[in-house]
Amino acid sequence: MISTSIEGSCACGAIRYRAVSKPTGSMICHCRSCRRSAGSPVVAWLTFSKEAFRFIRGQPAVFQSSASVSRTFCASCGTQLTYENTARALEIDVTTCSLHDPEGYPPNYHAWLQDDLSWVRFGDHLKRFAESEL
Ligand SMILES: [Zn+2]
Ligand SMILES: [Zn+2]
Repeated sequence: MISTSIEGSCACGAIRYRAVSKPTGSMICHCRSCRRSAGSPVVAWLTFSKEAFRFIRGQPAVFQSSASVSRTFCASCGTQLTYENTARALEIDVTTCSLHDPEGYPPNYHAWLQDDLSWVRFGDHLKRFAESEL
């Protein structure tokens, strides 16, 4: 059996994490909440099984961005790390660009285009969804 180990960290290195199974999803979110939380026009996310994901150094700070959503980030450097929604209790989303190898995990689609800024333009041919992909 081939073991998987996918690691990442915040910008300052105080927080590190590891996932031991492959991501089940890879997308770019254009929603207003991600934009504001990251201070960035869009945020790329990977979805992992929660039981396959662990913080292996440090503990991130938590920001409850809505009643059902908690986001974590490094309290020292501010890197956004994870997103959890009580509607998807068995999954955790991880910012693709906090991985050591974001190049290896390209997105499959864009979501929440209804919130998008008019000046965001992508040259890819990925599927686009007004809300989530479902
Ligand atoms: Zn940090
Ligand atoms: Zn979002």
